[in-house]
Amino acid sequence: MVSVSTTMRRLGIINSAVVTPTLSTASFARTLTLPSPLRNHCLTNSISFLKSRSLVSSFSSSSSSSSSSAAYLPALDDFPSTKGSVAVRDDNKKVILKGMSYASLQEWVESHGFRPGQAMMLWKRLYKDNIWAQDADQLEGLNKDFKRMIGEHAEFGALSFKDVRSASDGTRKILFTLDDGLVIETVVIPCDRGRTTVCVSSQVGCAMNCQFCYTGRMGLKRNLTAAEIVEQAVYARRLLSEEVGSITNVVFMGMGEPFHNIDNVIRAANIMVDENGLHFSPRKVTVSTSGLVPQLKRFLRECNCALAVSLNATTDEVRNWIMPINRKYKLSLLLETLREELNSRHKYKVLFEYVMLAGVNDSMEDARRLVELVQGIPCKINLIQFNPHSGSQFIQTDEDKMIKFRNVLAEGGCTVLMRFSRGNDQMAACGQLGMLGAIQAPVMKVPEQFRTALKASV
Ligand code: SF4
Repeated sequence: MVSVSTTMRRLGIINSAVVTPTLSTASFARTLTLPSPLRNHCLTNSISFLKSRSLVSSFSSSSSSSSSSAAYLPALDDFPSTKGSVAVRDDNKKVILKGMSYASLQEWVESHGFRPGQAMMLWKRLYKDNIWAQDADQLEGLNKDFKRMIGEHAEFGALSFKDVRSASDGTRKILFTLDDGLVIETVVIPCDRGRTTVCVSSQVGCAMNCQFCYTGRMGLKRNLTAAEIVEQAVYARRLLSEEVGSITNVVFMGMGEPFHNIDNVIRAANIMVDENGLHFSPRKVTVSTSGLVPQLKRFLRECNCALAVSLNATTDEVRNWIMPINRKYKLSLLLETLREELNSRHKYKVLFEYVMLAGVNDSMEDARRLVELVQGIPCKINLIQFNPHSGSQFIQTDEDKMIKFRNVLAEGGCTVLMRFSRGNDQMAACGQLGMLGAIQAPVMKVPEQFRTALKASV
């Protein structure tokens, strides 16, 4: 079990010097320690908890300058280890096939006395030609002994299907139950022009506590294994391809901060782009981060998939508030790292995501500052309409203002996209995934100058 406060402290997002809870220290600690596993939540009932000001802890705005935060480093080892792909086994000591790279699968097949070519036949039946085998019986054309060995020593699935919900705009939210009873969500977003995107989760909950994000309110339960990530894309294809057409794109923008689970995310992304398997184009598999700088560097060196960075502010003051990870990795460091890393890469552009929050980050001054900030970084900017959720303190920027904001960016030479809400009526939109328990991550203190802007939403 990992509490939100512990994880955030280890990440350097908060430390004991900067938290100024309105509760006593003991009750504050109790408030932040999350029950595990999280089960049977009532989504709507639990939200009212957030509105109770007496239970809202606050952060000193001066905390952003805390020098001691550097002492806290990302603690990826706090989570159940899933390193070493072949060794990923369930309680029956069976290999979980979808957590393995092709090289690992081949090694495993050979270790049982079968030929490398048989490994390729199995790989193709897992991922290719519309087979997406779920058990040994679906392995048509494979040698009987090989099938028997697979049935005895391997598991096909890492997820149990729970439910699928359709939003009025065609977006589908698929719910999966994990072996330990936790639930994750995967979203399939059909678009015109023959593109359909699956949005996968990389963690159960999230430790980053971005203030505009419902998932962030949950805190972090655990990392997903590579198999649990890959299976989301396979399952979405199996379940919905006939209905919505071929699934062409993957975005790691579901529950969780992918780079907080980087080993499994890189492994899963590499499985997804394998040309003999799911064969997504690396350009069409996008991993999004809130800005974990060391992991971002590693990703760019070890994976050729696309990168998105959730930016959402043009000053440290605002970003420290709405994205507490900024207290550890400041805007200047994040952007300078991208400038350096992307300079040497041919035709590679980062996608900056910018969720527009009325009165917070949507002024024309913000737009002009954004143009300056991204100078020298090969990029596109995606302006995203905020997706409200019960208990959220932010309100949407209206469309006219979004267009004016976009125009300033375009006049400044930026490539800009705009994304309006999808799947909102089924809580399937960006920043709306997850289920809250009775206890949530802390709400950060609103800087003085933004209180009026937020009043309308409270
Ligand atoms: S926006 Fe992403 S990183 Fe931030 S809390 Fe939500 S899921 Fe986590």
